[in-house]
Amino acid sequence: MNDHGKTSRREFVIPVATFGLAGSRTMATAAPQEPGRRSVNADQALRELVDGNRRFRSGNRLTPRGRPEEFLTLTHGQFPEAVVVSCADSRVPPEILFDVGVGDIFVVRVAGNVIDGAGVSVKGSIEYAVAELNVPLILVLGHSGCGAVKSAIKHIDDRDSLPGAISGLVELIKPAVAMSKGMPGDLLENAVRKNVEIGVEKLQCLEPIVAPRVKDRKVKVVGGVYDLFSGTVTLIDAQK
Ligand SMILES: [Zn+2]
Repeated sequence: MNDHGKTSRREFVIPVATFGLAGSRTMATAAPQEPGRRSVNADQALRELVDGNRRFRSGNRLTPRGRPEEFLTLTHGQFPEAVVVSCADSRVPPEILFDVGVGDIFVVRVAGNVIDGAGVSVKGSIEYAVAELNVPLILVLGHSGCGAVKSAIKHIDDRDSLPGAISGLVELIKPAVAMSKGMPGDLLENAVRKNVEIGVEKLQCLEPIVAPRVKDRKVKVVGGVYDLFSGTVTLIDAQK
């Protein structure tokens, strides 16, 4: 229990992750822990996201730490366990689809979940979470029906058909589209996946903060795609 007698997510996620009992509110009676940082590695953090998504899509959300009195212990510091780089799309809210609470994940949202070429604001945010908050896991999350990827497909051969900065944003996704052309299957699905894979690869090689930690196995970068129809996040196997 925390100082206010409320059950924090960190008090029940351990048995959920260990015994696979996702979705059971009886986990709230698990042994209390000190609020603040837990020592979780990337695999544990990923397991908790996977379990949270399972609760979300089955309609058994725990909606942890969602009220002010429940996250008072975080007022002096944050201890997120994962960075989620997701599309800005209104249908892809990471905290909800992973069933996590305030303070659990460090979310960077940008249309098309672009990383390469996205500039200092995106990369700097990710690096801050890794360097200053010691977050062990980075998840790059694309999604089905992504409008930014659709635009890149539609305007793959155009240079100035989109207004404002939209054109520059879409340009960042065109390499994923170009690499997906000619592949078997649906072009949009393939491009969404390729766009995620490119983001993962860029982060794994991002010097000077992320790449050394990946090499030392202190940080893991993974990719996933969220399906708007089923609510399921499918992790991308980097070996494929
Ligand atoms: Zn999108």
